[in-house]
Amino acid sequence: MQKNMLIFLGPPGSGKGSLSQLFFRREKWQQLSTGNLCRQHIINKTEIGKTIDFAMKSGKLISDSLIISMVADWLRGNGQKYSTIILDGFPRTVEQASALHELLLQPEFADMKLKVVRVNVSDKAVHERLTGRTICENNKCQVVYSNHSGSQLGPVKEMVCDICSCKLVRRHDDNITAIDERLQQYHKHENALIAFFNSVGETIIEINGEEPIELVYEQVLKNTGIRTS
Ligand code: AMP
Repeated sequence: MQKNMLIFLGPPGSGKGSLSQLFFRREKWQQLSTGNLCRQHIINKTEIGKTIDFAMKSGKLISDSLIISMVADWLRGNGQKYSTIILDGFPRTVEQASALHELLLQPEFADMKLKVVRVNVSDKAVHERLTGRTICENNKCQVVYSNHSGSQLGPVKEMVCDICSCKLVRRHDDNITAIDERLQQYHKHENALIAFFNSVGETIIEINGEEPIELVYEQVLKNTGIRTS
């Protein structure tokens, strides 16, 4: 059976995480968020966590070798279990994209069809979203909410997760300085990443991430060809 691997490219705050969680709940697509993997290392105070803590808080990228080995380990252990996997936040550099491309050439991933989705959101909208973002503090949940009034992503009860009832918190890197750094990192690598995927014959599926999340969700289903109606 053919399996799908969706790569969600897009700036921080473009909705990649919220979309991935929606696809998980509704379609049972599995999310692999490298940001969540990194945050778990920090919460669990592992050696890796201690090494990456400062870089993450300041919005810098973690080294390619570390991230690539985390993703490769996860895919080797879990790649066969799911019909569709979403990579949320990976790859972020050409080195990471190239390592993923090599990995997918291995026979164990021969049935996996790659689809590269770019979620487009302006820097202004990113700032607005991230300054109002809260996440569930339960590291097994990490559902994303917005505390802007009237947002579709608001929790039912203020600062409480709808899914697991744990407390909602702000991310350490959702402050203006780190947001600017993360946006700068994204734009620094964006064109080279797109050029890399084009060079290996992958079409970039462009999505307007500024629409309400339900419309973005439908765009992804339609434009990837996973659902045609
Ligand atoms: P995210 O949750 O995707 O916004 O990622 C949060 C932070 O985790 C980033 O600002 C980086 O410090 C780190 N990170 C996550 N994914 C990657 C990646 N693919 N490459 C390098 N650093 C990453």
